[in-house]
Amino acid sequence: MTKNNMVLKKYRWVFLPAVVLCSLFALLLVGYLTERTALNETKTRMENTLAFQTATLKASMEKYTVLAALIARRPDIIKALGEDNLLQGLPTADQLTTDFAGLSGADDVWIVDVSGSILISNRPLNQSPNIFDKEYFNSAIQGSLGRASVVTNAGQRLYIFASPVFSNNQVVGVIVVRVDLEYLERVWVLLQDPMLVIDETGRVLLSSIPAWRLKSFYSEVELKNAKKEVDNYLVEKFTTHSRDRLMLYHVLDKGRGRDFLQVTQYVALLGWEVHALSNYQSIAVQRNTVVLISFLIMALLAMAFGLWRSRQKRLLEEQRSQQAFALRLERQVRDRTHELTTTNQQLEVEIDERRLAEKHLREAQQELVQAAKLAGIGQMSAVLAHEYNQPLAAIRSYADNATTFLSKDNADAATDNLQRINMLVDKMASLTNTLRNFTHKSTSESKRFSINGVMDELVILLSPQAKKQQVKLNLIAPKDPVFVMGEHGRLSQIVANLVTNAMDAVNESTIRQVDVCWYRKLDKAIILVKDTGPGVDDKIKEKMFDAFFTTKGTDSGLGLGLFIVMNIINDFNGSLSIKEEKDYGAVFEIILPLAE
Ligand code: ADP
Repeated sequence: MTKNNMVLKKYRWVFLPAVVLCSLFALLLVGYLTERTALNETKTRMENTLAFQTATLKASMEKYTVLAALIARRPDIIKALGEDNLLQGLPTADQLTTDFAGLSGADDVWIVDVSGSILISNRPLNQSPNIFDKEYFNSAIQGSLGRASVVTNAGQRLYIFASPVFSNNQVVGVIVVRVDLEYLERVWVLLQDPMLVIDETGRVLLSSIPAWRLKSFYSEVELKNAKKEVDNYLVEKFTTHSRDRLMLYHVLDKGRGRDFLQVTQYVALLGWEVHALSNYQSIAVQRNTVVLISFLIMALLAMAFGLWRSRQKRLLEEQRSQQAFALRLERQVRDRTHELTTTNQQLEVEIDERRLAEKHLREAQQELVQAAKLAGIGQMSAVLAHEYNQPLAAIRSYADNATTFLSKDNADAATDNLQRINMLVDKMASLTNTLRNFTHKSTSESKRFSINGVMDELVILLSPQAKKQQVKLNLIAPKDPVFVMGEHGRLSQIVANLVTNAMDAVNESTIRQVDVCWYRKLDKAIILVKDTGPGVDDKIKEKMFDAFFTTKGTDSGLGLGLFIVMNIINDFNGSLSIKEEKDYGAVFEIILPLAE
């Protein structure tokens, strides 16, 4: 974690509210400044409009002031009114229209006598109204310029100028010029902001908004304070504080209140207040829009910051989880390596143990082979005793004969008998040698040897037993000797075992015959031991190669013969199988690899 992050985390509870507060403050400031700028712009615009419109208004109205005074100075009018020569000396209504009203654009021009009766009017009058009680008339009678804003019963808004007619320094009559104000408003139609003219009574005389016309401009409260009874007021209230010297009015416009900013100018000539208004709403909208945009920008910035932070956080977490994963992996690898090392050590121990067990097994096997041999010798010993007894008896009688013939000096006959003894001794020696070879413990030395040699020995070894069991033992040798690799003695044991079993098998048969043949087939040597016995039952076939399996009873069978045979053949890299052949019971086939 970086130092910055730690600081951020530590002061997060202060940081967040502080950021929110600062943002709020910034928004308020933006709102305030926007409003101020907009107000200043609006004020300048309003003041310009007001100055221009007031100037136009003044210019338009000033000519009528002059017009009333000019008419009052006409000699014919002075003369007529001065001499009470009333109607004859005065200009006609038509003249008034063409000379004054028509030219100036005034609505009406009246010539009034001192009693207030209208003598001449350029428009026809329904009755002869007397204007004696009118204020503007009184002002004129007193020698000054009378002025008044008037609204007729028909709703026509007029401005009236009344100028005294002097004759010999005496007021002899009054000239009244009535100006229709409506045309002044027309130019305001195009204005963006409302314009108002308020007369001396506080009434809206002119307005660019028709609905506002002829209403009281002052608020209900003001009117009450002024003790004026007016129902039709326009302004509901105005704020007491000024915004940059702009008054904020709440104007009742078409039944609903709207806030307006206002600048005003007093026109002393007419006794009017000219007001330029501007809708405050547009400023508020402008301010709110800027505040909203600022808020959105801030929100976007906050979001961007948030995204950046969360990305940073995610990256940090990823980095941490990667580190944790790497550590976990490292630990797993270490544990696994440790486990494997332990397993390896155990395996090594096991391998050693197995090697030892194998060695023991081999030794046991060899012991077994030896035991089996000895057992075989035990079986054979009776037969061998008989075999030895016969030649021994013969040797004795030949020796006796030789002794007798020597005493009789019959040397030839004695020699013949001694030769016979020699032959018999040789035969016995050969049998002893074979027996010694057979019983000799195997040396595990592998040598090239001929199968024929093995078979020659077997004939000598097994013939006596065959003879005893009355079995015909046939050895069918090939033309050429067949050579195999291994130990001579072990192969002779194999064949001896198979032949002994075969001789046992034919015991009950009428034809008692055992054939042993061997030959070369491609790169293999084949040895067949066939008998005319009953053959091997399928059930027995399954078990006959197991150790200690025998059907011969414990007296005559150990059940080790075929087990040992199978093991030795495996050592020779050969195979043993039982086959069937016509005229034979069991046929054992040994296949061995040929010697190079
Ligand atoms: P053993 O000869 O001591 O019984 P072996 O392992 O040599 O032990 O033989 C196992 C069994 O296989 C014999 O008991 C016998 O039943 C059967 N057997 C072996 N050779 C033959 C054969 N040539 N014909 C019939 N059965 C046989």
